[in-house]
Amino acid sequence: MENKQRYTKRRNIKEKKGKRRGFSRPALWGGAVLAVLVLSAGGNRILGAIEEYRLLEARNESFAGAPPFDVELLDINEYSRPGIPLEQINGIVIHYTANPGSTAQNNRDYFNSLKDSHETKVSSHFVVGIQGEIIQCIPTSEIAYASNSRNSDTLSIECCHTDETGKFTEATYTSLVRLTGWLCYRFNLTSEDVIRHYDVTGKICPKYYVEHPDMWEKFKEDVEKQIQVVEQEVGV
Ligand SMILES: [Zn+2]
Repeated sequence: MENKQRYTKRRNIKEKKGKRRGFSRPALWGGAVLAVLVLSAGGNRILGAIEEYRLLEARNESFAGAPPFDVELLDINEYSRPGIPLEQINGIVIHYTANPGSTAQNNRDYFNSLKDSHETKVSSHFVVGIQGEIIQCIPTSEIAYASNSRNSDTLSIECCHTDETGKFTEATYTSLVRLTGWLCYRFNLTSEDVIRHYDVTGKICPKYYVEHPDMWEKFKEDVEKQIQVVEQEVGV
């Protein structure tokens, strides 16, 4: 099926689903209690817990077809999680850490440490590790500091790698294809909306896919196939 047709189909289905949704009385009460908790106690920890709760609850429906991932949100701070709403999602930008051997946890913790060190401004929505582990650092409803002029309308995925070539391990690659395919499905994107950081600024990132454009095309084909797999899992 052509991308455009599939896009329309997915959007129609989502709209239909949206109409069926509504807030039940317990959900409203739950929301009120959470709001009171936030107002009275405050603090990022509670906001993080609410986001995690929201994501876990959403998993029953819209997390079908997603790879497993941990939600370890950064604290809101102006150096890595500014808390600015991401009002539209028009693409997904792929990066590499340029820090051989570091893990997804190392990178997530580094982003969070910037709130104290003020060393630079950088972050990413997701980090995929060498073992294929995935950590979400920023909600998809907020911007990350990863992709320069495209921070305002894209999601970002950082990938770990073992050496200077920047080539991803098989485990990283598999998780990246699954995560990207699912995010495309979820936000009505096609593989053509998946870009390299290089495509935004000319930066050599992700290095292996800048130096091997044929492998980048192969990656996008695998993402397109994965979108179809997710559609089947979701039952579209
Ligand atoms: Zn990058």
